[in-house]
Amino acid sequence: MPLFRVDSYLKYQFDFITIKKQPFFSYFCQSIISYQNLSTPHSILDTPIDYVKGIGPAKGETFRKELNIHSVQDLLFTYPFRYIDRTTFHLIKDIKTDGDNIQLKGTLVSIEKIKGKNNRSRIQGMFKDGSGFLELVWFQGATWLDKVLQVGQEYIIYGRVTIFSGKKTMAHPEMELLSDAATALSQTYDPVYSSTEKMDGKGLDSKARRKIIKSLLGSISDVDLPETLPHYVIEKLRVCSRYNAIRWIHFPENEEQKSLATNRIKFEEFFYVQIRLLQSKIMRKYKYKSAPFTIIGEYFNTFFKTRLPFELTNAQKKVIKEIRTDMGLNTQMNRLLQGDVGSGKTIVALLCMLIAIDNGFQSCIMAPTEILAQQHYVNITSLLGDMSINVAFLSGSVKGKKREVILQGLKCGEIHIIVGTHALIEPTVEFQQLGLAIVDEQHRFGVAQRASLWKKNSALAPHILVMTATPIPRTLAMTIYGDLDVSVIDELPPGRKEIQTIHKYEASRPQLLQFMHSEIAKGRQIYIVYPLIEESETLDLQNLQDGYERLLQYFPPPDFQISVVHGRMKAKDKDWEMQRFINKTTQIMVATTVIEVGVNVPNASVMIIENTERFGLSQLHQLRGRVGRGADQSYCILMTDFKISKEGKERIATMVRTNNGFEIAEADLKLRGPGDIQGTQQSGLLDFKLLNIGQDRAIMDAARNIAIRIIENDPNLERDIHENIKYQVAKLRQKHKDWARIS
Ligand code: ADP
Ligand code: MG
Repeated sequence: MPLFRVDSYLKYQFDFITIKKQPFFSYFCQSIISYQNLSTPHSILDTPIDYVKGIGPAKGETFRKELNIHSVQDLLFTYPFRYIDRTTFHLIKDIKTDGDNIQLKGTLVSIEKIKGKNNRSRIQGMFKDGSGFLELVWFQGATWLDKVLQVGQEYIIYGRVTIFSGKKTMAHPEMELLSDAATALSQTYDPVYSSTEKMDGKGLDSKARRKIIKSLLGSISDVDLPETLPHYVIEKLRVCSRYNAIRWIHFPENEEQKSLATNRIKFEEFFYVQIRLLQSKIMRKYKYKSAPFTIIGEYFNTFFKTRLPFELTNAQKKVIKEIRTDMGLNTQMNRLLQGDVGSGKTIVALLCMLIAIDNGFQSCIMAPTEILAQQHYVNITSLLGDMSINVAFLSGSVKGKKREVILQGLKCGEIHIIVGTHALIEPTVEFQQLGLAIVDEQHRFGVAQRASLWKKNSALAPHILVMTATPIPRTLAMTIYGDLDVSVIDELPPGRKEIQTIHKYEASRPQLLQFMHSEIAKGRQIYIVYPLIEESETLDLQNLQDGYERLLQYFPPPDFQISVVHGRMKAKDKDWEMQRFINKTTQIMVATTVIEVGVNVPNASVMIIENTERFGLSQLHQLRGRVGRGADQSYCILMTDFKISKEGKERIATMVRTNNGFEIAEADLKLRGPGDIQGTQQSGLLDFKLLNIGQDRAIMDAARNIAIRIIENDPNLERDIHENIKYQVAKLRQKHKDWARIS
């Protein structure tokens, strides 16, 4: 029987693996350790590049210095970033603008130098084939071209056609005399490698590298590039062999070879990451024991029966059940709780902490900012009311005697729940019995910070719940949280009106001011958010300051009051201003993005975002989530100048189109890539050469699902057919030593 069915890996499944008990776990740990002493048999792949035909010591040095390419392996596994399609000659009459690079064959009709503005000259040419004429243009740096190119000769030209000065034009085409162009006629895709100025200067431009790699590949056989995937996986997935993948990624003869090679490499890039994540997950399950919370007792029940302010949504009930089951085991819970802003994660967190208390354990909840932590503290204490539960607050600003008392209370177990910032992970913070650690708004914490939380208990590890309000696209979640179990709150509490999102230009400001007046007259409150310009903090403040002063003219005291909050205020002042807004002393809150996360003022119903084009999508969504928290119709108004980049427009259109955080996260990932996610870069988790996690979802699903099936059936990778996998994983483990500590 096959281990998995071909069709099953294609199915949409958010199946974060559930590991069954494996009796041979201790052996599993040992086998990983014994694999640490890997010695790779010497192969041609390890040969230093100096010995490759056409390179030598001098060029070898350039390769090392410029591109960090040391060996034959490095050279072969540095892939082209695009190809020159030599397989077709397109016709001028059929050309579409803004398409791919294309190849044309024809005659250079004329060439001339044109003096433009500011002494900048350009070279302009005219090209024809049997079907029509096409303009060619070269801007700076090509002044000698008119001397080299020969009018009246036949050329093969290559480039992308766009509209320039109202005409179809190919800018900076590559030109090759037809009589010289032996390769151009050979029906190939020529690889183009990323290069540097120094590489080009040392005669190692793309063309030269093409030649070197071509001849190198000619001397390499499939024995030198052995298979890394089990054969049954190759057969089931119909991917090409590793040997072919490497040959074809450099020199595909057609589209099919190109995509076969690309897909095979992408698959492998993701597959081993998944195997490693899943193995870590199993290992952790067995290595870290936690106290099983078997009792649902007095605290939970009393709260549930007498203090729960609303009926839980079905989604909330579902995730609480998942968490409860997980915490009921003696293996450590490592769970990610995803839920859009306003989906009600706080109450879920609190109910889980009550279970911990029922079982005689302490809990902590850690938030990324002081304001957020404070807010959790206020929320939690007011929800608990007069129940006899000790909740304390700890941050960097809690000092002296007060801090002493709290540290003491934690150590002797008097404090049941501690809410705080990352002050909580400092070594001086000791618990009597920490049973549950909750990390809110995960994306702001580094991996290491998360890890240090669960070292707080010596004997038993606390259960870990990571909460995030930034919905994470599935492919990204699979990558960076692939070793966590996931719960999703996919439903908002009832009675919320959909926030209306509107894009307005500067010209509509008078109407905006009018609208603000009318909302304030209804008793509503308003946020106005300015972007944070990192390169120029002063400019940033200036922006906010100007905005504030302008507002004062339209909303003068004493009838109107305005709060101002920004990142460089003292925590105390910030809190004071926030407090004034919360208790409705002020009607308008002018702020930078410090209010982005978690702030909860249900009476605020308007969010105005200035210079919207400067914000990222996730950030905009977070900001919008500050309103729509009460029963009133809420609005999010996105202000911009007339001039916005294409991408900026797309972001705004996405915001106007949807309120769904998951949809927005997907769009964000597509637009921006996974770039700035903390704690993932150094771990090598997003270290892909070809895989694009915004776009290669089908491949990622396939890789994950196959990895799951393999690890479920053979967690130690001890079956003969998994020998290759075991070897590759051990190699990767060596490369990323920190890997076992992730999450
Ligand atoms: P987030 O998931 O963004 O942290 P919160 O926990 O702050 O969301 O909840 C947002 C608001 O919704 C809070 O005012 C909270 O009291 C309220 N809320 C949460 N769950 C429910 C529910 N089941 N029914 C009604 N209101 C709820
Ligand atoms: Mg929250």
